[in-house]
Amino acid sequence: MMQQQGMGQLDDLYMEIILDHYKSPRNKADLSHLSDENLHENPSCGDSIKLEVLVGEDGRIASVRFDGHGCAISTASASLMSERFAGKTPDEARELIGVFLNVLRGEEPAETLEEWGDLAVLGGVVQFPMRVKCATLAWHALEKALEG
Ligand code: ZN
Repeated sequence: MMQQQGMGQLDDLYMEIILDHYKSPRNKADLSHLSDENLHENPSCGDSIKLEVLVGEDGRIASVRFDGHGCAISTASASLMSERFAGKTPDEARELIGVFLNVLRGEEPAETLEEWGDLAVLGGVVQFPMRVKCATLAWHALEKALEG
């Protein structure tokens, strides 16, 4: 019973933050100048995303922008992520991506994300295996963009 109440609260917060970012995505931009090689897709849901990382002269990420269409979780994940990574070095970013992917794979507890602000709600997606690819799509795209 206690556990069910806890879940209900998580769901409300989860939905509120997810829907806010879905309706008003942060750092969404027209990235039609990027080739389709930069397109990342999640066929099981129909999500697709292009992502661009700009690194400043100080070697830190100046901005993360994304383009595409998808479900609420994939869009919110990209939006939340884009806010989190400005100011990070590429190495810091890669480390955070690794932690996030481990949590979504169930290899680290969801509580690991508790200090990540609103992004922590995405840890709840681990309970919905069908949606994990939605939540991780943008993160794989960012990992790839940092390689290039
Ligand atoms: Zn999706």
